[in-house]
Amino acid sequence: MATNRTFTMIKPDGVENGHIGAILEKINAAGFRIVAMKLTQMTKRDAESFYGVHSERPFFGELVEFMTRGAIVAAVLEKDNAVEDFRALIGATNPAEAAEGTIRKLYATSIGENAVHGSDSDENAAIEAAFHFSGRELF
Ligand code: UDP
Repeated sequence: MATNRTFTMIKPDGVENGHIGAILEKINAAGFRIVAMKLTQMTKRDAESFYGVHSERPFFGELVEFMTRGAIVAAVLEKDNAVEDFRALIGATNPAEAAEGTIRKLYATSIGENAVHGSDSDENAAIEAAFHFSGRELF
Protein backbone atom coordinates (compact mmCIF):
# COMPACT_ATOMS: atom_id res chain seq x y z
CA MET A 1 0.00 0.00 0.00
CA ALA A 2 1.20 3.53 -0.73
CA THR A 3 2.68 5.43 2.21
CA ASN A 4 0.22 8.30 1.78
CA ARG A 5 -2.52 6.21 3.40
CA THR A 6 -3.60 5.59 6.96
CA PHE A 7 -6.15 3.37 8.63
CA THR A 8 -8.80 4.56 11.09
CA MET A 9 -11.69 3.21 13.13
CA ILE A 10 -14.48 5.18 14.72
CA LYS A 11 -14.61 3.09 17.90
CA PRO A 12 -17.82 1.71 19.50
CA ASP A 13 -18.18 4.76 21.80
CA GLY A 14 -18.01 7.15 18.85
CA VAL A 15 -20.68 5.17 17.01
CA GLU A 16 -22.92 4.75 20.10
CA ASN A 17 -22.72 8.46 20.91
CA GLY A 18 -23.83 9.46 17.41
CA HIS A 19 -20.55 11.03 16.30
CA ILE A 20 -20.00 9.22 12.97
CA GLY A 21 -21.15 12.20 10.89
CA ALA A 22 -19.23 14.82 12.87
CA ILE A 23 -16.03 12.78 12.81
CA LEU A 24 -16.28 12.16 9.06
CA GLU A 25 -16.81 15.92 8.58
CA LYS A 26 -13.57 16.63 10.46
CA ILE A 27 -11.73 14.03 8.38
CA ASN A 28 -13.10 15.51 5.17
CA ALA A 29 -12.38 19.10 6.20
CA ALA A 30 -8.77 18.15 7.00
CA GLY A 31 -8.27 17.06 3.39
CA PHE A 32 -8.33 13.28 3.64
CA ARG A 33 -9.86 11.24 0.82
CA ILE A 34 -11.84 8.16 1.91
CA VAL A 35 -10.39 5.20 0.01
CA ALA A 36 -12.38 2.47 1.80
CA MET A 37 -15.07 2.47 4.48
CA LYS A 38 -17.50 0.12 6.23
CA LEU A 39 -19.62 -0.36 9.34
CA THR A 40 -18.54 -3.61 10.96
CA GLN A 41 -18.02 -5.28 14.33
CA MET A 42 -14.81 -6.86 15.58
CA THR A 43 -14.88 -10.33 17.10
CA LYS A 44 -12.90 -11.06 20.27
CA ARG A 45 -10.30 -12.80 18.14
CA ASP A 46 -10.12 -9.79 15.77
CA ALA A 47 -9.55 -7.35 18.63
CA GLU A 48 -7.00 -9.57 20.39
CA SER A 49 -5.07 -9.81 17.15
CA PHE A 50 -5.44 -6.15 16.11
CA TYR A 51 -4.21 -4.95 19.52
CA GLY A 52 -1.81 -7.88 20.03
CA VAL A 53 1.08 -5.51 20.73
CA HIS A 54 -0.73 -4.53 23.96
CA SER A 55 -1.48 -8.10 25.12
CA GLU A 56 0.69 -7.80 28.24
CA ARG A 57 -0.69 -4.40 29.26
CA PRO A 58 -3.09 -4.20 32.24
CA PHE A 59 -5.84 -2.59 30.13
CA PHE A 60 -5.82 -5.30 27.43
CA GLY A 61 -8.91 -7.21 28.61
CA GLU A 62 -10.94 -4.02 28.94
CA LEU A 63 -9.74 -2.81 25.54
CA VAL A 64 -10.83 -6.04 23.82
CA GLU A 65 -14.21 -5.93 25.58
CA PHE A 66 -14.72 -2.30 24.58
CA MET A 67 -13.67 -2.74 20.96
CA THR A 68 -16.01 -5.72 20.46
CA ARG A 69 -19.13 -4.38 22.20
CA GLY A 70 -20.69 -2.74 19.14
CA ALA A 71 -20.30 -1.47 15.62
CA ILE A 72 -17.23 0.41 14.44
CA VAL A 73 -16.59 2.37 11.25
CA ALA A 74 -13.38 1.13 9.63
CA ALA A 75 -11.82 3.29 6.91
CA VAL A 76 -8.69 3.87 4.87
CA LEU A 77 -7.75 7.50 4.28
CA GLU A 78 -5.43 9.08 1.73
CA LYS A 79 -3.51 12.35 1.95
CA ASP A 80 0.12 13.46 1.77
CA ASN A 81 1.77 12.55 5.09
CA ALA A 82 -1.42 10.71 6.07
CA VAL A 83 -0.21 8.84 9.17
CA GLU A 84 1.36 11.83 10.90
CA ASP A 85 -1.33 14.32 9.87
CA PHE A 86 -4.11 12.02 11.01
CA ARG A 87 -2.45 11.44 14.41
CA ALA A 88 -2.35 15.23 14.77
CA LEU A 89 -6.04 15.49 13.81
CA ILE A 90 -7.14 12.90 16.41
CA GLY A 91 -4.93 14.17 19.26
CA ALA A 92 -3.38 12.42 22.26
CA THR A 93 -4.56 8.98 23.42
CA ASN A 94 -5.92 10.54 26.61
CA PRO A 95 -8.56 13.15 25.69
CA ALA A 96 -7.63 15.14 28.80
CA GLU A 97 -4.24 15.71 27.15
CA ALA A 98 -5.49 16.14 23.58
CA ALA A 99 -5.12 19.54 21.91
CA GLU A 100 -8.16 21.79 21.44
CA GLY A 101 -10.12 21.03 18.28
CA THR A 102 -8.80 17.48 17.90
CA ILE A 103 -11.26 14.64 17.40
CA ARG A 104 -10.42 13.04 20.74
CA LYS A 105 -10.70 16.35 22.58
CA LEU A 106 -14.14 16.87 21.06
CA TYR A 107 -15.60 13.36 21.12
CA ALA A 108 -13.62 11.00 23.41
CA THR A 109 -14.74 10.33 26.95
CA SER A 110 -11.70 8.59 28.50
CA ILE A 111 -8.23 7.22 27.73
CA GLY A 112 -9.83 3.86 26.91
CA GLU A 113 -13.00 5.04 25.16
CA ASN A 114 -11.29 7.56 22.95
CA ALA A 115 -13.57 7.65 19.90
CA VAL A 116 -11.05 6.96 17.13
CA HIS A 117 -8.04 4.91 16.13
CA GLY A 118 -5.26 6.13 13.86
CA SER A 119 -2.30 4.03 12.65
CA ASP A 120 1.04 4.98 14.18
CA SER A 121 3.30 4.13 11.20
CA ASP A 122 3.11 3.52 7.45
CA GLU A 123 3.90 -0.13 8.07
CA ASN A 124 1.07 -0.54 10.57
CA ALA A 125 -1.31 1.42 8.32
CA ALA A 126 -0.76 -1.17 5.59
CA ILE A 127 -1.18 -4.10 8.01
CA GLU A 128 -4.32 -2.62 9.61
CA ALA A 129 -5.93 -1.73 6.27
CA ALA A 130 -5.33 -5.28 5.04
CA PHE A 131 -6.82 -6.61 8.30
CA HIS A 132 -10.19 -5.01 7.47
CA PHE A 133 -10.27 -4.65 3.68
CA SER A 134 -9.56 -6.72 0.60
CA GLY A 135 -7.83 -5.16 -2.41
CA ARG A 136 -11.11 -4.74 -4.30
CA GLU A 137 -12.60 -2.68 -1.44
CA LEU A 138 -9.88 -0.01 -1.75
CA PHE A 139 -10.73 2.79 -4.21
N1 UDP B 1 -5.69 2.34 26.04
C1 UDP B 1 -6.28 2.18 27.29
N2 UDP B 1 -5.58 2.56 28.41
C2 UDP B 1 -4.31 3.06 28.34
C3 UDP B 1 -3.73 3.23 27.07
C4 UDP B 1 -4.43 2.85 25.94
O1 UDP B 1 -7.41 1.71 27.38
O2 UDP B 1 -3.72 3.38 29.38
C5 UDP B 1 -6.44 1.95 24.82
C6 UDP B 1 -6.97 3.17 24.07
O3 UDP B 1 -8.24 2.83 23.51
C7 UDP B 1 -5.92 3.36 23.00
C8 UDP B 1 -5.57 1.90 22.66
O4 UDP B 1 -5.59 1.25 23.94
O5 UDP B 1 -6.39 4.09 21.89
C9 UDP B 1 -4.22 1.71 22.02
O6 UDP B 1 -3.23 2.33 22.81
P1 UDP B 1 -2.05 3.18 22.14
O7 UDP B 1 -1.06 3.47 23.21
O8 UDP B 1 -1.56 2.47 20.92
O9 UDP B 1 -2.76 4.57 21.77
P2 UDP B 1 -3.20 5.22 20.38
O10 UDP B 1 -2.15 4.86 19.37
O11 UDP B 1 -4.57 4.66 20.05
O12 UDP B 1 -3.27 6.70 20.67
